Parts: sequence; structure tokens; C-alpha cells
Amino acid sequence: MTITPLMPVYPRSPVRPVRGEGVYLYGEGGEKYLDFASGIAVNLLGHGHPVLTKAIQKQAETLIHVSNLYGSPQGESFATRLTKLTFADTVFLTNSGAEAVECAIKTARRYHHHHGRPEKHELITFSSAFHGRTLGTISATNQEKLRDGFAPLLPGFHVVEFDNLEAAKAAMNEHTAGFLVEPVQGEGGIRPASQEFLRGLRQLADENDLMLVLDEVQCGYARTGKLFAHEHYGITPDIMAAAKGIGGGFPMGACLATEKAAAGMTIGTHGSTYGGNPLACAAGEAVLDVVANDEFLDHVTRMGERLKGALEQMIPNHDHLFEGVRGLGLMLGVKMKTDSRAFVTYLREHGLLTVAAGDNVVRVLPPLIIEDAHITEFVERLSKAAAQYEVPAA
Ligand SMILES: *Cc1c(COP(=O)(O)O)cnc(C)c1O
Repeated sequence: MTITPLMPVYPRSPVRPVRGEGVYLYGEGGEKYLDFASGIAVNLLGHGHPVLTKAIQKQAETLIHVSNLYGSPQGESFATRLTKLTFADTVFLTNSGAEAVECAIKTARRYHHHHGRPEKHELITFSSAFHGRTLGTISATNQEKLRDGFAPLLPGFHVVEFDNLEAAKAAMNEHTAGFLVEPVQGEGGIRPASQEFLRGLRQLADENDLMLVLDEVQCGYARTGKLFAHEHYGITPDIMAAAKGIGGGFPMGACLATEKAAAGMTIGTHGSTYGGNPLACAAGEAVLDVVANDEFLDHVTRMGERLKGALEQMIPNHDHLFEGVRGLGLMLGVKMKTDSRAFVTYLREHGLLTVAAGDNVVRVLPPLIIEDAHITEFVERLSKAAAQYEVPAA
């Protein structure tokens, strides 16, 4: 038998973390890593943050799980907080990002069904999008590497070019239910939508009674310096998926919606065994305790500007490797002139954790609690690694 006990779907690196502390991870042999990957934009409080660990400990001792058959004081409290902080009137809690997107897709379809228009079941989605790995969410992207071998996929998605408002408009027809879009594409290569594009989609949705569904699984939750990225655009969605940072590392997600958009989500239409159990809600509350205030969000903005500035200064010294930096807040991408995956691997070997993304981008996603000293350390070590790096022969 040669198959590994963990199904071999990931090219796992030799980095094998067993302990974390703040912005650092430690491997089995005590190796120390500067973690500017944050479990892919998840550990927004870094590792071992006392507010989060204590909240989880305390709740684990009190009550871990019941079921959604009972009243949920913990879920009500958390959902109420989210509705007060956002556009939303109601929240469905999930265990992951893909489930949050699935709920968002179902809510959008159900809206039109509820109003007697079941033929409006198609979402317009965008090239290089990433919405998760379920059958529904891989059907919503055109990325072949996610879809290969899993046909037949789900009908009801029409993919057009990202950031191209005319293409979205041209794709609309009598079957259109709405738009599903990441305000800042993550896996696709840290690409913020333009103001015109996102506002244009909002306007098209308003004019045609369509649902604007945002996937803020990666760009949401304080990552860009706003609690949610759409706040940079002066618009609000009808439905939104959140996850990744929401539990600070505890598996959790949420589908948020306005009362109008959730019109069809009545008793029995959706569910989840674990979704929003007391332990998850305790983690979610602890994260909000830390991040949902102007002081914290200003810190993210300030750190984002410094990190971006430091990277921009470094790049000309290695202009055979790097093209530029893009992104918002602490969701940054360094666009490379060579294969970013090989460089991310090289950085790991030198104790720096980042994440590769599409379009030859190195994603820089530090915990949001970083300080100036971490930025200095990161950029110095990145620059040193870049100077020593030999681009592998193609
Ligand atoms: C990570 C991600 C997802 C999927 O989240 P999972 O928790 O892995 O299911 C969906 N959308 C976006 C934008 C993501 O970055």
C-alpha cells in the first residue's frame, strides 16, 4: 500500500508545525518560522492569543455542542452582534467557507423561487474566482484545476471576466438570479475589484431585482482594514459569505443576508449539525471582542500601509524577480516575474511562511496583530532570500 493515511490531495511541505506563539510557528524539531500566511488568512490574532484561547477553554468546560433543534443563546448573541456590525438582518452559521457560499447560493435561488420566479436560478460569476471545493462552489468558477474530473458539475453558473462590468451586463438574461463575486480575489492572485465594477454590479442588481452575493471568506473580517472589504466601495451586498478569520482558527463560517434577501429561507429549507454550536460561537465572540472596533481596524490599515511601503521599497533591488505589490490592508500580493510557487517553497526553507496564489503572486497574509518589528523582520529576510534565490530552470 502506498497511499498515505491522509488522503494525498495536498503537496504537503516539509514544514511541520506543532506549536505557535504570536506571529511565530515552531516545527517538530524546534525550527522557528515567521508566519506571514496565518493558515491562509485565518489566524488573524496570531497563535495562542489569550482572549481566544481562554474563551474556547471556558466554553469547552461549560458546553461544547448541543444541536440546532434547541434554542441557542450563544448563537443568538453572536448573530445579533454580526447584524449590528453589518448590513445584514439575519445570519446562518456554518463550519467552513464553502458551506457559507453554498448557503449564499441557496438563499439567492430561494429568493426568486419565493417570489414565483423559479426560472431565475443562474448566478453570474467571475474568472479566476475561488469559492471553495464543494460541487456547488467548484461549479461557480472557471478554474480547470478545481473542476477536472468532477463532471457533471452543477448548472446555474455563468462565468465572465472578472472586473469587466460590460461582460457581466451582457451575460444577464431571464434566468439571472444575481452576481457572486469576491470584492478582492484571494486565490486568484490578490486582485481588488475596481470601484466602477463593484458599484456597477450593485446598480445592475438594484435595477433588475437581482441578488448581489459577495464572497468575503478571505477578504472579510478586518483583513483589509475594514470589518468587510465592501465597505471600501460604499456599497452593501444582499447576501455575503464570511469564514476564515471569523473563528480565529476555530472552524466556522457565516452566511449573512438582509431580511429581503432571506425571504425564502424558511423553516426546513437549510441546516447544519454543527453550524454555530456553543464552542464555535465562543470563538467567534472572542474574535469580535478584539477586532470589531476602530482602533483595531486602524492598526490593520496602518500596518498594511507600512508593509506595502516596505515591500515597494525593496522590490527595485530585485527587479529580476518582482513586478509589484497589490492588495488592501494586510491582504497583499507580490506579483513575480517567475513562478511564485517555487519561490514560496524557497522562502519556507528559509523560515518565512507566505502563500502562493494564481497569476504568479506571493500572498502576504500576516496575523492582523503584527507590529512594526515583524514587518522589518519580514522584509529584511525576504530581501535576503530574494538576493540568494536562483530561479529554477524552466
Ligand atoms: C478559502 C475560501 C473559500 C472556501 O473556504 P473553506 O473554509 O476552505 O471551505 C471560499 N471563498 C473564498 C474567497 C476563499 O478564500
